[in-house]
Amino acid sequence: MCVFGRRCYVRAMGRTDVVVIGAGPAGLTVANLLHRAGIGCLVLERETREFIENRARAGFVEEWAVRALERNGLADRLLRRAATQGSFEFRVDGTSHRFDYADLTGHRHFVYPQQELVKDLLACYPGPIRFSVGDIQLRSLDSSPYVAFDGERVDCDFVAGCDGARGVCQSHVPATVARHDYGIGWLALLAEAPPSAESVVFGIHPNGFAGHMARTPSVTRYYLQCSADDTADDWPDERVWTELRARLALPGEPIVAGPLIEKRVLRMHNYVLDRMSAGRLHLAGESAHLVAPIAAKGMNLAIHDAVLLAQGISAWYDGEKSALDGYSAACLGRVWQYQEFSQWLSDLFHGSRDPFTHQLIQARLRRLLNSRKAAESFAEIYIGQHADH
Ligand SMILES: Cc1cc2nc3c(=O)[nH]c(=O)nc-3n(C[C@H](O)[C@H](O)[C@H](O)COP(=O)(O)OP(=O)(O)OC[C@H]3O[C@@H](n4cnc5c(N)ncnc54)[C@H](O)[C@@H]3O)c2cc1C
Repeated sequence: MCVFGRRCYVRAMGRTDVVVIGAGPAGLTVANLLHRAGIGCLVLERETREFIENRARAGFVEEWAVRALERNGLADRLLRRAATQGSFEFRVDGTSHRFDYADLTGHRHFVYPQQELVKDLLACYPGPIRFSVGDIQLRSLDSSPYVAFDGERVDCDFVAGCDGARGVCQSHVPATVARHDYGIGWLALLAEAPPSAESVVFGIHPNGFAGHMARTPSVTRYYLQCSADDTADDWPDERVWTELRARLALPGEPIVAGPLIEKRVLRMHNYVLDRMSAGRLHLAGESAHLVAPIAAKGMNLAIHDAVLLAQGISAWYDGEKSALDGYSAACLGRVWQYQEFSQWLSDLFHGSRDPFTHQLIQARLRRLLNSRKAAESFAEIYIGQHADH
């Protein structure tokens, strides 16, 4: 038998067990977990390796997700290099309110740039992967699926659709899509500057929300609420730093400026498909649901789906042919918990421009900061230790 596992011997040219479409956090986690279970995979990625290894997005990984990767030998470098954080600050009306969720839950976030996790997952995956693949077509998904691309054809038992929000897999699932548009933008910034505070800062301000999140000791992510129609050109660097100081700085705690290496406007919106599977195609991550980065949940959900999908496919190969029947429901339970939480946080972050909602926000904050029960309930979902149903 092949050293890679029990099923390698059945592979032949043009055939594998699972074709994974997309090499983001979802696809690479699925591929690694399946490979470790001895299931053959081929990963197809539209972009180059260099591009995906440098695409900066997320940075906050929940502890349960890190432990799931660690159990499978996928978190060695992360555990060596990532800082952890167990508290954040609200800054409102020039006052700081610290919220210590590690104290309430015993769990922390790991601060690790998404592109570093992608590099690790690529380095850990010894199976076949093809970059710069174009024109992917999925066929015969009900019974004997195959994937055609660039004049080639690969037959398989399953397709894992992990190609994100702009991929091709979503359109093959006849799902109803629930959508929500917040009607606002976030100017997403990466500054070559050390963090200005020791933890995440959520600035609630009449000019709009601002966020501060460490990425590495020398790079910091900032967000500024803006109009959904703004473009990066509307935000010259000087305007960015003036607004960040106005919305986030405290006396004696300046915002440390530096060159802005990313500046783009994200339109804040969500969507969720009501089913994630069609025949032998199973979606995972943003191909099935998108949650605006208000609560830093998207990559964590992608890893959650990936773990469940790999478990389901492994059980199927072990003879449990109904193992994937509950896959959508199991993923969507957590997806909707996180959507609801993001909506709740959005109400807190984005409403302080008119006096009435400003007072509602103050009342909500007082409850959160003064009631242990309210704080515990918030903390457990903020760090992902809640029940999904
Ligand atoms: C600014 C920002 C900050 C964020 N911060 C956080 C955070 O702190 N914590 C958090 O949990 N989440 C965060 N997120 C969300 C997180 O980045 C995403 O949820 C995550 O990337 C989803 O992973 P995925 O694997 O589902 O999709 P992706 O990462 O989008 O991966 C999909 C892959 O499929 C490839 N692909 C697309 N189409 C095709 C095709 N036709 N054929 C082959 N390949 C294809 C793409 O190139 C890509 O590599 C943030 C997002 C942004 C934009």
